[in-house]
Amino acid sequence: MFLMGFDVGGTKIEATLFQMSQSAIKQSKKGEAFRCAHPTEGLLHGEVLARRREPTERHKGYESIVDKMAGLISATCTEAGVALSDLSGVGFGLPGSIDPRTYRMLNGNTMVLVDRDMVNDVRKKANLPAQVPVRAENDANCFALAEALCGAGLEHEKHVGIPVHEQTAVGIILGTGCGGGIVIQGRTLRGARGGGGELGHTILYRDGHQCYCGQSGCAEQYLSGPGLESLMATRHYSQLGNTFLSAKEIFEKAQASDPAALAVVARYKNDLGRFLGSLTSVFDPHYFVLGGGLSLQPSIYEGLSEILANHTFLPNSRVPVYKHQLGDSAGGLGAALLAL
Ligand SMILES: [Zn+2]
Repeated sequence: MFLMGFDVGGTKIEATLFQMSQSAIKQSKKGEAFRCAHPTEGLLHGEVLARRREPTERHKGYESIVDKMAGLISATCTEAGVALSDLSGVGFGLPGSIDPRTYRMLNGNTMVLVDRDMVNDVRKKANLPAQVPVRAENDANCFALAEALCGAGLEHEKHVGIPVHEQTAVGIILGTGCGGGIVIQGRTLRGARGGGGELGHTILYRDGHQCYCGQSGCAEQYLSGPGLESLMATRHYSQLGNTFLSAKEIFEKAQASDPAALAVVARYKNDLGRFLGSLTSVFDPHYFVLGGGLSLQPSIYEGLSEILANHTFLPNSRVPVYKHQLGDSAGGLGAALLAL
């Protein structure tokens, strides 16, 4: 079967056309083959047939984004020689909370997408046949779903022997924001209105930094890349010769034993461990999986399970924390899996 997944972000829109089947794929055309343990379809073998990107250019408005997405459906299908009527589904991973009944975005940082009927508008523009299901979901939920079924979940099954369909997984994206997704026995926790898994807007510090969502002290304000950068800048700006360091530069300085950077990274890891400890008390997951730019820093994993264990109710809670296994393709793959 052919499935299309979109990863729609503030800066780029990426469309990926996947082929998935229950029989093994002999040779992957693009060299990107994977396996997924799907809760109803069983073990699926997948490969990437085509992938294309466009800049989001949100200043050009909603219609321009719909046009680009319709164009990407047509271009990827043409490239792979797949007819629109042969698609088994199309999924959108969107940067906000998505109503699970209407697929409209309830809120998010890309305001032009809020409360739009994107699923039907793209369907019309792309001339998708009526039998092709189109779905939308929060992008961090897509990330968590793909990692749970096709990435970290399979890795955890290999290490511990607990099958994917019995696992509870929590995915966290540590990037320009802090997103979260919860997957229980192969299914995403959406909640009553699609707001399930908005973990970045749980409170880490009472009366802490003001968040754009209207609250103060949200985890996102401390665990995102900008959160780390502002901690460094506010505490050590003069020590740094009045230069502003990126998150990547802060980790590089810590690696080189710079005391200010080491202190900031230690504080960041303590915040992250505390955050994961609280989530352990809520979900008691089999594992956490981290995505986003900060998840690429090997040092954040060192001792993290131990910090987490000190901040949770359950005894002996050394919950494993994995780095993402699927790289940048997790969001698009999770979106494609929505249509199954
Ligand atoms: Zn917030």
